[in-house]
Amino acid sequence: MPELPEVETIKGDLQKKIKGKKIKNVVINIEKILKKPSLKEFVSKVKNRIIQEINRRGKYIIINLDSGEKLIIHLGMTGLLIYPIDQKSMANIIPKHNHLIITFTDDNQLVFNDVRRFGKVYLVCDINEVEGVAKLGIEPLDENFTKEIFIRMIRKKKNKIKSLLIKQEFITGLGNIYANEVLHRSNIHPLRVASSFTDEEIGKLFQGIKSVLSEAVEFRGSTVADEAYRDTDGEKGKFAERLQVYARGGKNCFKCGSTIEVIKIEGRSTFFCPQCQKL
Ligand SMILES: [Zn+2]
Repeated sequence: MPELPEVETIKGDLQKKIKGKKIKNVVINIEKILKKPSLKEFVSKVKNRIIQEINRRGKYIIINLDSGEKLIIHLGMTGLLIYPIDQKSMANIIPKHNHLIITFTDDNQLVFNDVRRFGKVYLVCDINEVEGVAKLGIEPLDENFTKEIFIRMIRKKKNKIKSLLIKQEFITGLGNIYANEVLHRSNIHPLRVASSFTDEEIGKLFQGIKSVLSEAVEFRGSTVADEAYRDTDGEKGKFAERLQVYARGGKNCFKCGSTIEVIKIEGRSTFFCPQCQKL
């Protein structure tokens, strides 16, 4: 499932590639992905509009239109945004999963491709009209996410830290891959209770969140074993080869050589080094 670094990569690509373009036509092949408004209203409101800034909130991509409305896309589990559509970008993509196709006046096309169909598309005036968005937590790469604020956020929480980190209402954009990586980098056991942390440990965790996420953005996200994630060119993200614990159960820790262990926390595989991350 795409997390903050993957969505941020796609956002950045779209900002460079489609800003200023005018939409000639839009086709939705599977109505299920369109959550708001009706198909007819969507098509008529999107046609002839010019793309303005592209933003991101959590795992939502926000494409601002010159009408003031926002085209919002959540990639779900396997959603991809591919631009432009050509032989190279479509080499690893199955065309029958192209569910939304936007054609610009220069005849280039942006496609939303989603094998598992958990992706969602909205056209709204205000992003808070999208279900769940108003409750999203702080953006971890924002300047206003500071160590002091994080200490206040975490101090009284009784949750296990791994569970807390993947809660979108707490910090938005962190999912299973990066929560595992952040905890390993911060030398914190995933089952530790948040309220038991010292200020120093919270500081390390804070640095871990900032550094893992910004490096993952720099390396354009992670395409892991399921091969699902691609950027807008159809290329893999290059952070997967830098992952320290995720999907490395039974292998040796790069830092200390101990065997990486796997446990389930809330049904999600959780990878950690018992030597580097003591309970
Ligand atoms: Zn280790």
